[in-house]
Amino acid sequence: VTQSNKDTIRPGRVEEITSTANPRIKSIKALGLKKNRDRESVFVCEGLKLATDAIDAEWTIRTLLYSKTAAEDDRLRDRIERLSATVRARGGDILITNEKVLTSLTRRDNPQAVVAVLEQKTTPVSEIKPTGNDCWVALDRVRDPGNLGTIIRTSDALGAAGVILVGETTDPFALETVRATMGSLFHIKLARMSEADFIERASGWTGQGVQITGTHLKGAVDHRSLDFTTGPQVVLMGNEQQGLTDALAASCSNLALIAMDGAADSLNLAVATGIMLFEARRHNLTAPGAAP
Ligand code: SAM
Repeated sequence: VTQSNKDTIRPGRVEEITSTANPRIKSIKALGLKKNRDRESVFVCEGLKLATDAIDAEWTIRTLLYSKTAAEDDRLRDRIERLSATVRARGGDILITNEKVLTSLTRRDNPQAVVAVLEQKTTPVSEIKPTGNDCWVALDRVRDPGNLGTIIRTSDALGAAGVILVGETTDPFALETVRATMGSLFHIKLARMSEADFIERASGWTGQGVQITGTHLKGAVDHRSLDFTTGPQVVLMGNEQQGLTDALAASCSNLALIAMDGAADSLNLAVATGIMLFEARRHNLTAPGAAP
């Protein structure tokens, strides 16, 4: 928020709503459907921690709902007050409500103190320029919301530069995905591109010294033998059912196999991504206070 914006932003409105039949509540509930989220370019996140992470990371909360009972709780009052003051000052509306309304929005057994409606945000493809020791994760047609959320969280934890969604994927802004990211959605770059676009950019990147490692059950290289200190990296992961398309596999500098030793045919996508990223980022990871 720039100073001139600050001067012109009108504080959001505050309203008390106690009924699940209220039209504003119904329209937030409708954001459970992707077409409604996309039409308004918004999504829902739940929980005081996630909403605070979002606002701290300069994401825009259009509407903040909180439970009046939770705001009267000594352990939560200050945090809820601070959050709602910031949201309001940045132009977002505040809806003071109850647990029944919040539960109806999140379909959870344990009610959340806070639910937020946020503006969607992705990184324009033109801004993806792997440099230095960047490591990007690219996902071919990821289908499972839990996998995507876990991959976003793991990518954040291991210091990846961002996550590129290639082709038709599950919605990163679905409630289940956002939940699984545990707030990492707000800390990492997320971009989308078509398969054709990825392949075209991949050829430019490899020409500039970026190593693109595809992971494949027919990979010719043991992932532990790859050198990830050569410069910028892209780690490309395949679809849960079909693996990488042939065209994407052909765009890679290497195809790596993660060695296995049991009866399982393959690893879960999120687990495989974690293993690859750990290897690719190993030389950048520090555990302060622990012996190496
Ligand atoms: N039936 C799929 C296939 O034939 O590729 C299995 C896909 S696997 C569940 C999902 C993705 O995880 C794969 O495309 C690959 O990116 C990664 N993966 C899983 N296990 C792997 C392994 N042992 N080596 C390399 N990549 C693996």
